[in-house]
Amino acid sequence: MTAPKKLFIKTYGCQMNVYDSERMAEELGAQGYSETKSVEDADMILLNTCHIREKAAEKVYSELGRFKKLKAAKPDLKIGVAGCVAQAEGQEIMRRQPLVDLVVGPQSYHRLPEMEAKARSGEKVLDTDFPEEDKFEKLKRRPKAPRGPSAFLTVQEGCDKFCAFCVVPYTRGAEVSRPVDRILTEARDLVERGVREITLLGQNVNAYHGAGPQGDMTLAQLIWELDKVDGLERIRFTTSHPNDMMDDLIEAHATCKKLMPYLHLPVQAGSDRILKRMNRSHTAESYLRLLERIRAARPDILISGDFIVGFPEETEADFQATLDLVEEVKYGTAYSFKYSTRPGTPAAERPQVDPAEADDRLQRLQALLTRQQREIQDSMVGREVGVLFEKPGREAGQMLGKSDYLHAVHVADCGRKVGDLARVRIVESRTNSLAGELID
Ligand code: SAM
Ligand code: SF4
Repeated sequence: MTAPKKLFIKTYGCQMNVYDSERMAEELGAQGYSETKSVEDADMILLNTCHIREKAAEKVYSELGRFKKLKAAKPDLKIGVAGCVAQAEGQEIMRRQPLVDLVVGPQSYHRLPEMEAKARSGEKVLDTDFPEEDKFEKLKRRPKAPRGPSAFLTVQEGCDKFCAFCVVPYTRGAEVSRPVDRILTEARDLVERGVREITLLGQNVNAYHGAGPQGDMTLAQLIWELDKVDGLERIRFTTSHPNDMMDDLIEAHATCKKLMPYLHLPVQAGSDRILKRMNRSHTAESYLRLLERIRAARPDILISGDFIVGFPEETEADFQATLDLVEEVKYGTAYSFKYSTRPGTPAAERPQVDPAEADDRLQRLQALLTRQQREIQDSMVGREVGVLFEKPGREAGQMLGKSDYLHAVHVADCGRKVGDLARVRIVESRTNSLAGELID
């Protein structure tokens, strides 16, 4: 018997890339690959890239450059680039970095086994199509191997919103929702493998409108279908757009016990002038009123957000409006970024904010968000929360898990195992985590 080939995958960016990497590893698993954490052992290296951050492509080229020696020592080593940089750069990657054997866009990775075979026979292969066929249909059914208790499941991909700063509509393509029955099958398979919490993923997950038995279903309807899956205890979803936050989804937050009290709802900015220039199609006021309705349905919900500072033409007064909005909302977690130009997007051509000014604003915003995050975390002390245990902690007998609100929680002398759900009383708030005690 020949030794199994080894695959090393490095994943950049969002949860959807984490999910895609798992699926790519499974596809190549069927070709005899097993995963390795050591790049030196690999017969194939795959970089699953993200194009959201500044100089994303340059970082990929420099990472690839580091594989030169490995490839020289092991000529059979195959190197591939996947994800959104692969989509955006295409042929240019092979031109600039001849050691790359394979380039695959996010919509084509179901073709990876074929591509790998071609690469093995010495061909250079590139596929950055947006194929007619549904990649999820073509992917093999997921293997049955046991896995951790928390999993991602992509239900919707792509985006039709075209925010003026964002590359996603160009790299991931138009919005597409997967059919309900396929999602349920995948969810049941995951539960059989030990999964108890599923996070439904989509660039605009709340715009989900997949085919169901009686026509298209909304995200809330899909959540109610998943609610019926025995053994699945927790449901989450991300990322949502404020304009797609439908009444039935808000209602589900009030009534669906498996739906966790956590909502990532990016606003990006607090100035209506800037929101308009961003093509966000909501205002600060409409966002705040929406949150009021969501909090009326689920008063303890933890709100998370995304922000961009230094968007072209943002003034100090515009920035102040962002700070005001943050003061009003009180975010439990948040991701904030300095605007960075994406060639080909509408905002790229506009007058840029002085970088030092943008840095200063980012620091001020982050100081406020960090303070809020800490206050909300501290307010958990004394409360009872559900915790799903994900791994043993560093100390003997300690277990680490996530609360309903997605806070990291550790419990000493726990006596529970990975995958157990327990009621925990929070006793202490530390820098990035909470300490708790089992209630019974
Ligand atoms: N679909 C989600 C939404 O509507 O907010 C998020 C998509 S994007 C992958 C994640 C975050 O990256 C965005 O919410 C935004 O804050 C940030 N982002 C996207 N493009 C950016 C850019 N050109 N400069 C800085 N931040 C950016
Ligand atoms: Fe990008 Fe999100 Fe806007 Fe779509 S809605 S363009 S993914 S920021």
